[in-house]
Order: sequence, then C-alpha cells, then structure tokens
Amino acid sequence: MTKFKTLLPTSTAGSLPKPSWLAEPEKLWSPWKLQDEALNEGKQDALRVALQEQVHANIDIVSDGEQTRQHFVTTFIEHLTGVDFEKRKTVKIRDRYDASVPTVVGAVSREKPVFVESAKFLRQQTDRPIKWALPGPMTMIDTLYDDHFKSREKLAWEFAKILNQEAKELEAAGVDIIQFDEPAFNVFFDEVNDWGIACLERAIEGLKCETAVHICYGYGIKANTDWKKTLGSEWRQYEQAFPKLQQSNLDIISLECHNSHVPMDLIELIRGKKVMVGAIDVASNLIETPEQVANTLRKALKFVDADKLYPSTNCGMAPLSREIARGKLKALSAGAAIVRNELKLTLA
Ligand SMILES: [Zn+2]
Repeated sequence: MTKFKTLLPTSTAGSLPKPSWLAEPEKLWSPWKLQDEALNEGKQDALRVALQEQVHANIDIVSDGEQTRQHFVTTFIEHLTGVDFEKRKTVKIRDRYDASVPTVVGAVSREKPVFVESAKFLRQQTDRPIKWALPGPMTMIDTLYDDHFKSREKLAWEFAKILNQEAKELEAAGVDIIQFDEPAFNVFFDEVNDWGIACLERAIEGLKCETAVHICYGYGIKANTDWKKTLGSEWRQYEQAFPKLQQSNLDIISLECHNSHVPMDLIELIRGKKVMVGAIDVASNLIETPEQVANTLRKALKFVDADKLYPSTNCGMAPLSREIARGKLKALSAGAAIVRNELKLTLA
C-alpha cells in the first residue's frame, strides 16, 4: 500500500485546462487543434505543463491533468471494440441532458492499452505520487446506446472486466492511485446498490495500489448548474451510496464539498475510508481564499480522521481559464497548509 508522508496530501479531482495550442480553451470536450504525430507530441507537452503547474502550486499527488483525453468517458470507449461511433442515438445522460452517443453493436473488448503509455510518460516526469482517472462502469454505460446486451447491468460487468485490465497495467506503470469517475452514483441509487458498487469492485480486483471513486455533481456547465437548482437546500444524494461504499474494497471516496449543499455529516457514513474532500468550487470563477479552503477542511475533519483527509477540488477544472485554475490550485495547497499547521500544533 502506498504511503503518503505528507499529512493532508492535496490533489485535483481530475482535469486541468488545456493550452490554447492544443484545444480551444474554456470549452468542455473541445476538439484537438493538432493531428497525428503533432497531436501526440502536443499531448505530451501539455502533460509536462500541467504537471509543472501542479508542482509549482505544491500539489502533493499529481496527475496528467487529463491532457491526453478529450472526454472523461468517450476517449476510453473510443479505444474499445464493439462500439460504433458512426451509429449515434440521442439518449438522456444521467437523467439530465440529451446527448448524441455511440451505439454498442457487439461484444466489447480492449484490444490494446488505452492510457498506459501516457501514464508511463507521467511516471518518468515526476517522483511525486501519481493518480490516474478512468471512467466508472456505470457512468460508461450511461454514455452509450446499447443495441447488443440490452441490459445495463450486463454491459457494466463487461466494462468492469475491461477496466480491470487497464487498471492492472496502470498499476504496473507506477500509478499510485487509480480513480474511477462515477457521477452516475449520484443519480441511479437502486442500480448503485444492486450492482454499481459490485461492478466497481470487479474493476479494482487484485490491485495493490490505492483506489478511489469520484462522485460529484458534475462540471460547472449549464445542464448541471440548472439540475443543482432543483435539488433543494440539502443535497442528500451521497446518503444512498455511502453505506455500501463504506463496506466496499475501495480505499478513497472523492466528494464535492465546497459551496455545495451536501450536509458534511453525511461523511460519517463512510467513516474509516480516506476522503478526498472537494474544497474548491469548479463552477465558479471566483478563486477561493486559503481561509475558505481551510474552513471546508476543518468542517470535514469532524467526520474524517486527519490521516485520512485528502484535500481536493470538487471536480475537474477543464472548462476554467488557466489563470483561474492556477489560482485555485494555489488556494488549495495554501488552505491545506493552514490546517496542516493547526493539526501539528494540536498533535505536538
Ligand atoms: Zn467530477
């Protein structure tokens, strides 16, 4: 098991903005501006920059900032057989917004590794612990039209097997934490408890590195902010999945906590797990002050032991400007530093 020496090790939930020479900035799922070999080189250069910015902001657990992918789910699916990207259907994603999605037309499989080369490249660039994000099985099936299995559960189990192959190779490439993004866990509560968490455990089977599940309320796009307005004054969605997650083999749960209406005491339901506490709002251009970050972490500390609290962002920062994302990274590490010092004083 990986040991992180720092108390309150900081990380981001996922993506960072891409440089304007690689993709149009401040736009989610923006198409690439380069092709072929130039694109590969551009992705590597962008990864170097994203890493440098994290190191410069004193982020302890670093990532590729998702510079190597266009979309957190479809980029992975593009590499699989059995999915026809020409044959598209409009479906409702996470019961929230319509999207044109590819169709599952046959058995699904991973012919070759998807992110492993990029993870090896990141590993070569830094000695810090690295985290790599993959989509979760339930969020994957929710981003497709299934014309073959005709069963959400069956397809999810197939994806879980494929994710496990990829995860094992990421671990061998030196990844310290593998994170599965499962925003769908905040929507399909019955399925989450019937087979969603079980599928995720299949995806991490046999792994020795740490594993995380990221459950958020989504990027700061209109469909999500409109949806949040319908959720009332208390967001209790986490309450549905937490009891089973607490019993699961996953090591870390990554949550949206800052500027959200999630009652912090829900975290009590996953007592014993490590918690990536989102202390940075990704749906706002206002840069948090270190004191605001510290406040969110202090509130979380009532329900998470200090050695299990990992300060993080609510979600990915891809749609933000680079300057704002940089400011937010610095606020995150400065806020964590305040609380780290307070803890050292009380432990001393
Ligand atoms: Zn997220």
